[in-house]
Amino acid sequence: MRVSALATGLRCLRCGTLHAFDPEARLCSTCAGAEEVTDPAVLDVTYDYTAAATRIEEARAVHGVFRFAPLLPADAPSGPQLHAGGTPLTAAPRLAWRLGLSELWIKDETRNPTRCLKDRATSVAIAMARTAGATALCCASAGNAAISLAGFCANAGLDCHVYVPRGVAPQRLEWLRAFGAHVTVADGDYDVAYDQAERDAAANGWYSRNCAINPFLVEGKKTAALEIAEAIGAPDLVVSPVGDGCTLGALGKGFREARTMGWTSSLPRLVGVQGDRIRPLVDRWEGLAPRTMPDDDAPPRAASMAVRRPRNALRLLEELRHSEGAMLAVSDVDIIAAQRRLAAEAGVVAEHTSAATLAGLERLAERESLARKVAVLVITGGRVDQ
Ligand SMILES: *Cc1c(COP(=O)(O)O)cnc(C)c1O
Ligand SMILES: [Zn+2]
Repeated sequence: MRVSALATGLRCLRCGTLHAFDPEARLCSTCAGAEEVTDPAVLDVTYDYTAAATRIEEARAVHGVFRFAPLLPADAPSGPQLHAGGTPLTAAPRLAWRLGLSELWIKDETRNPTRCLKDRATSVAIAMARTAGATALCCASAGNAAISLAGFCANAGLDCHVYVPRGVAPQRLEWLRAFGAHVTVADGDYDVAYDQAERDAAANGWYSRNCAINPFLVEGKKTAALEIAEAIGAPDLVVSPVGDGCTLGALGKGFREARTMGWTSSLPRLVGVQGDRIRPLVDRWEGLAPRTMPDDDAPPRAASMAVRRPRNALRLLEELRHSEGAMLAVSDVDIIAAQRRLAAEAGVVAEHTSAATLAGLERLAERESLARKVAVLVITGGRVDQ
């Protein structure tokens, strides 16, 4: 196991500075002193794409996230590791027909080890933590990232510290405890949990799996896009839920890399979906004034995308611009109906956050014709026991 040989640098998504590749880097050092910083100056890994394309071609037999190791910041760890990625892309012809699409595909991320796309980022986190010699990892999460990290740490025999918001579903806590994680329930929402996790990680020397400011973890998430591009080329539309913005931003990067390597000739339009109560990135993309978000104790049903202060906004906005993308807000009522339709007409068990993708696509179909279009719903997670 070692740090990637083909990573060439780290580009700041705020000021554009290209830094040397450094596996310990977090935010941009050039931006560090900047005043009025609203968005964290997150870094983006750059690669030698010509060499990477050849190596990926040579590694056809490898399966899962590390099939794309030449485009990841670390190689597969030599120790134990749950197997993430390589998830099915399932056709959903009945839903396609309903929406007037030519094809609708489900990227079924519920088939990852802990039932969630987060496992792709966790795979890379474990590889990076091992390279750094860390034996303890931590993260803050509404549930899925924490459960993912806890599962992978259980398998690898690493210490795991997780921070969850107040009001997190008891079933999620049970999973965390079953995986043997040290659990801290924050005295507040996800944002409070996040700050507490970062503080404790710094104080204790834990490896932080918080995806937004760690430049390396989104690299794991982008492999979902590389898999889609390998399977069907570039679809017209890719729909994903948006919380911090890492997932959809990473998918956008993956599709641009697929185009750079000559696998595809176009880019899909990225469609991000948020709930209609907590929708900071919808408002920002639409140029609307930020609205007051309800500060209630009960998290919305689609808890995994209820992020009030998104930390990877710069990445997401850049990818939305590249793809001429869209951001949509959907209601809880529409999400629940979409979850039922995904089950009834595609046989897919999606959690509320992920079912929001179908609700979003239905909303888009009201605004414009989807005739002759190929769309992919990224069903990010399947934890319905909340
Ligand atoms: C975390 C999560 C998201 C949102 O991802 P971000 O990277 O925070 O934008 C979407 N769906 C599920 C199931 C998640 O767990
Ligand atoms: Zn910078």
